Amino acid sequence: MVNNSAGRGKRKGLGMAKAGAKGRKPKMRASAEVAEIFRRLHAIEPEPKGELEHVNAYTLLVAVVLSAQATDAGVNKATRPLFAIADTPEKMLALGEDTVRDYIKTIGLFRNKAKNVILLSQALIERFGGAVPANRDDLVTLPGVGRKTANVVMNMAFGEATFAVDTHVFRVSNRLPLAPGKNPDQVEAGLEKLVPEPYRMHAHHWLILHGRYTCKAQRPECWRCPLTDLCQFEPKSTPPKVKAKAQP
Ligand code: SF4
Repeated sequence: MVNNSAGRGKRKGLGMAKAGAKGRKPKMRASAEVAEIFRRLHAIEPEPKGELEHVNAYTLLVAVVLSAQATDAGVNKATRPLFAIADTPEKMLALGEDTVRDYIKTIGLFRNKAKNVILLSQALIERFGGAVPANRDDLVTLPGVGRKTANVVMNMAFGEATFAVDTHVFRVSNRLPLAPGKNPDQVEAGLEKLVPEPYRMHAHHWLILHGRYTCKAQRPECWRCPLTDLCQFEPKSTPPKVKAKAQP
């Protein structure tokens, strides 16, 4: 789920340059339109869930740390056997960095991530009695944990209505536009201001799912998008042509 490339807003495919009508500054969304966007996303998936497998707040935290610049499916494949033997900071520490590295070697940046998993487990034991702290200020002091990771944990483990801005949330927010911004912090601040109840709790999950499966980076599937009439991104994409079958 979590992809840290959101900050590179100028990268081809994020749709920044084309958001809004021909580069004009996008207008602030009317609140009725914002509510309608989320009403439709809610109707499609009333109870969206994150796709990272975990068994408690600690394994969620580790999975999110591992998911930076990796796919959820790839992370799940590696963490399934790892979490079966290490689902607490104490057990992870007992495994040691070399063994953790071995379990996660199929994930990008695995050397650095293994180091962070051990360091953050150590920090949880030393500073928080082995528990995952339920506030963002403490979470971001842990090795390998940034604001986005902290927001995911606050939302999924502790039921806080936070807005974790990954590459999908960043792209969709800029394309529609919903809460346009040059970096994830600006988008997060915009979403904080804009998203109404009762949609705040699941808003970032809906935007992730929309970005992952419909409003894709390289080729958004506008022809089947439920938000097309509310979207200012141009040009809208058209359905792929079906090749005519050769006559016998
Ligand atoms: S119409 Fe939908 S898929 Fe196309 S750019 Fe807009 S939000 Fe994305």
